[in-house]
Amino acid sequence: MTVERTLSIIKPDATRRNLTGKINAKFEDAGLKIVAQRRIQLSKAQAEAFYAVHSHRPFFNDLVSFMISGPVVAQVLEGENAVLKNREIMGATDPKKADAGTIRAEFAESIEANSVHGSDAPEAAAQEISFFFAAIDIVA
Ligand code: GDP
Repeated sequence: MTVERTLSIIKPDATRRNLTGKINAKFEDAGLKIVAQRRIQLSKAQAEAFYAVHSHRPFFNDLVSFMISGPVVAQVLEGENAVLKNREIMGATDPKKADAGTIRAEFAESIEANSVHGSDAPEAAAQEISFFFAAIDIVA
């Protein structure tokens, strides 16, 4: 059994529609524990830094604008195989391709405004968690 932590972000399209609780219920119902959580308004520089790996992609500027269009909820999820499990709970990037019952199938508005971010690998998770949280902020 591998207990992992992963970084999740509830995106502005979801906070705007007051969906934080419904999305958190998906994580908790699947056995993931929310061990840290902060609601914040990202600055442009912070959003650009967080998504630096995507800076070459054609949608980068749109993505940054979207991510600063309202508050986000950054959170650390903990559980067995948390990185992969969260990706399954989230569903595919494009909500049209997301499996029924996933967060993106139920809540996403578009391929961009797709309600949640989740780390895609353990190494990325460690780096992304440290972007938002200090060790003292995470309480298991
Ligand atoms: P994820 O890991 O499933 O979030 O997907 P990616 O890492 O490929 O993309 C990061 C984020 O960029 C996605 O969650 C979307 O918010 C956004 N995004 C991805 N593909 C597109 C696209 O084709 N157009 C636009 N406008 N945004 C996109």
